[in-house]
Amino acid sequence: MLEIKNLHARIAEDGTEIIRGLNLTVKAGEVAAIMGPNGSGKSTLSYILAGREDYEVTEGDILYNGESILGMDPAERAASGIFLAFQYPMEIPGVATMEFLKVALNEQRKARGEEPLKISEFIARVKDAAGSLNMDMGMLKRPLNVGFSGGEKKRAEILQMKLLQPKLCVLDETDSGLDIDALKIVAEGVNSLRSSDRAFLVITHYQRLLEHIVPDTVHVLYKGQVIKSGDKSLALELEANGYAGVIGEAA
Ligand code: ADP
Ligand code: MG
Ligand code: MG
Repeated sequence: MLEIKNLHARIAEDGTEIIRGLNLTVKAGEVAAIMGPNGSGKSTLSYILAGREDYEVTEGDILYNGESILGMDPAERAASGIFLAFQYPMEIPGVATMEFLKVALNEQRKARGEEPLKISEFIARVKDAAGSLNMDMGMLKRPLNVGFSGGEKKRAEILQMKLLQPKLCVLDETDSGLDIDALKIVAEGVNSLRSSDRAFLVITHYQRLLEHIVPDTVHVLYKGQVIKSGDKSLALELEANGYAGVIGEAA
């Protein structure tokens, strides 16, 4: 589903190279964990997948279902089923969460040539998704993410994912700032979306989230490259021994 080949990318503004020859393949149905020390380029990779314009790809390619997405803008990527849950979800004053969800869903439908959802059907879907995430419908009347706690922001991201039903879900440190109960709810939300035609890139620093979202593969990102890949036991090894061993091996 996703094939990243020898990707090099830099910050558009000052030319600093952050992604330095990254290779990664993720199959449909797979949950791939991306781990790595702070500053290794994990968030940058997620922004590049989403198509953020602050970064320039200088070499290599990103294939999604066999086709390059480098020429697609963020809206086209979203419409094609790529979803990014941010490490720091943006606050959008003046736009009620419910309204934001409706626009996001209907834009996606429009891009696919479908009619907007009937309002009653939309509300039924939101109620269902919010209920499964233990989210209060009252919260959805408030502006998106404004004054939401860390846990509430992450739940709002998973709620969007549940409604949009993307095919390639990139979750950037969805666990940061979550207490254990919120972590479990978010993990259940992700697990409920696991399916043979959907893939996840779960970016995390810690093994903790991976106890609840059990990955098929684990990849260590360091200085803009994948330096080691393995199965879930690699995450346990990293938790026990830290990144130093793996970094030493790669060097
Ligand atoms: P991670 O998510 O693995 O902690 P990041 O992708 O956030 O790492 O950052 C990788 C490196 O790139 C860091 O050194 C960070 O400071 C730098 N970086 C990323 N984006 C920018 C930017 N827009 N401007 C300046 N530095 C950036
Ligand atoms: Mg970081
Ligand atoms: Mg990050």
